[in-house]
Amino acid sequence: MRAFVDKDLCIACGVCESIAPEVFSLETEPYAVVLLDPIPEELKDAVLEARDECTEEAIIIEE
Ligand code: SF4
Repeated sequence: MRAFVDKDLCIACGVCESIAPEVFSLETEPYAVVLLDPIPEELKDAVLEARDECTEEAIIIEE
């Protein structure tokens, strides 16, 4: 699995980072950046939850 954030859609709300802080970070950019590529097996559920909880639909998943 790979995850991407559309920086034009991201409003930097922090929801994804709170759900999966190992994967999403708001520390370096004014939008969420993905720290891990590919996504480790044990973090896939959290990444899917973050994708579902992102109100801007800014998180894109590739299987
Ligand atoms: S949940 Fe969505 S809008 Fe919020 S910081 Fe993450 S990618 Fe951006």
